[in-house]
Amino acid sequence: MPRLTVTQVADGVHLASTGLVNWILAEEDGQVTMVDAGYPGDAARVRASLDRIGRSLDDVAAVLVTHAHVDHIGSIEWCGLSAPVFTGADEVPHAKREYLQQAGELDVALRAWNPRVLLWSARILAVGATQDVAVPEITACATGTPLDLPGRPVAVPTPGHTTGHTAYHFEGAGAVATGDALVTGHPVTGVRRPHLLPDFFTHDQAQAEKTLDDLAALDAGIVLPGHGNAWTGTMREAVELARS
Ligand SMILES: [Zn+2]
Repeated sequence: MPRLTVTQVADGVHLASTGLVNWILAEEDGQVTMVDAGYPGDAARVRASLDRIGRSLDDVAAVLVTHAHVDHIGSIEWCGLSAPVFTGADEVPHAKREYLQQAGELDVALRAWNPRVLLWSARILAVGATQDVAVPEITACATGTPLDLPGRPVAVPTPGHTTGHTAYHFEGAGAVATGDALVTGHPVTGVRRPHLLPDFFTHDQAQAEKTLDDLAALDAGIVLPGHGNAWTGTMREAVELARS
């Protein structure tokens, strides 16, 4: 079973990780903004992560989705959340599963010669990676302006990994939830610094590379990725590493 860790990375901001995927809890005045929600099999771990910071599902004011892959929206419909769910406008139809932009079982099977891929695929099967998930009740959030939610996140369109991929900039905490637009570790890559995911995970790799310019422009000192550890340094430094 994946082991849950919850690490405070800034005032009120916590990175929850199972080693396979992360989600973020940003707390203000007893209310929580959650960014992403793990695999379908992570429902109990999502609840446990809230418990670790002394909160419960009832304290969640909203869930913000970076992108609608199974490892980021998996438990939203399962863990008992009643909070509204938001994402960037271009990701809404993806989250409703009007279409799917995700590496399929064939994409993974073709790479099963790679021991890292083989081990990873066994681990993600155990947390429901092949389940069909959707978020039927999801709304587009405004971009470029602080949302009236705990932590005052600003949604930043970061297309490439998926068409509507959205990062969330917690300006006060100086942290950016980058989702899979910029990661710092992944069981498949074994790389432990800011990098892009391999292109078989990504809908449009050229666009994903262009999006790095928009991330580099954000004023923050902490990267909170969808996969990997929190990383401390400017966004420009993180993007330079991803491109090197
Ligand atoms: Zn992911």
